[in-house]
Amino acid sequence: MPAIHIQNLNKSYSHKISALKNVSFDVAEGEVFGVVGPDGAGKSTLFNILTTLILPDSGEISVLHKDIIKDYLEIRKSIGYLPGTFSLYPDLTVEENLIFFATMYKSRIKDNMSLIRPIWQQLLPFKNRYAGKLSGGMKQKLALCCALIHKPSLLFLDEPTTGVDPVSRKEFWEILGSIKQQNITVIVSTPYMDEATLCDRIALLQDGSIVTMDTPQQIIQNFAGTLYTLRTPNIFNLLKIMKHFSCNCTFYPYGENLHIIFYENTSTALPQFEIFLKENHQSYDHLTQITPTIEDCFIELTSQKIAL
Ligand code: ADP
Repeated sequence: MPAIHIQNLNKSYSHKISALKNVSFDVAEGEVFGVVGPDGAGKSTLFNILTTLILPDSGEISVLHKDIIKDYLEIRKSIGYLPGTFSLYPDLTVEENLIFFATMYKSRIKDNMSLIRPIWQQLLPFKNRYAGKLSGGMKQKLALCCALIHKPSLLFLDEPTTGVDPVSRKEFWEILGSIKQQNITVIVSTPYMDEATLCDRIALLQDGSIVTMDTPQQIIQNFAGTLYTLRTPNIFNLLKIMKHFSCNCTFYPYGENLHIIFYENTSTALPQFEIFLKENHQSYDHLTQITPTIEDCFIELTSQKIAL
């Protein structure tokens, strides 16, 4: 039996905004499952439904084999939840917050210290600091300790690394790896596509619908088309001109580079592209074929192809 089962979930706000459309997926026990998508994709709505905070309009949804509507109180006891917005008490100290959350779940810190020890040790020097005065990364580490202190069997992390510096983001994901070792199922949402590769499986969410769902490796393998990158001194100028390049392709800026996905044979399309660049006086270098990232896959799956 999966830890989470979702069949045809729909949710709209004020009968106008359709936040989730016919979403279906299962999360297996012990998995680290990622829900990846940009702002407004529906990630928090999904997490709020699964953690029994809001009701779906329709759908069959069970969490830890219990119905989210009938059995919501039982579900709440067995899950840990780190919401997208800072949810701790800013005017309690680090230690007081942990004691508060442990007590709320009728648990004792010493019983589950082994679960949080690697994170707690980083927080110890600040244990008497008000939670509101911690850095972004430290706040999230404390929130994770508070979500874990009753040893839940399923952990919900809604955008745990949004607004967190790159070093703390990396540390946070290392911690998630050790949580997985403790047989805790993790469902985590993120707008950062690079974090998707750290999950066992991911669902890419866009405008309330699942675009694709698989292991990150398989999603990359299923990439349709051939991806090239090039460096240019003026990406904005090149993007303007690219609209006139007639080819069955998709292009987009990727950092300071241009990425172009060819959907036709590159033995003819690539020389045509180079001629086009020369005719339009575009200087460039490093035009090379590359392996797509999850971000390329997401763009490929959601973009409008330039049809000839
Ligand atoms: P994400 O977490 O991926 O950013 P959300 O679930 O917060 O996405 O939002 C999905 C859509 O639902 C967005 O269009 C958002 O504006 C809308 N939405 C979210 N919460 C509410 C609400 N309480 N009332 C009305 N619309 C909402």
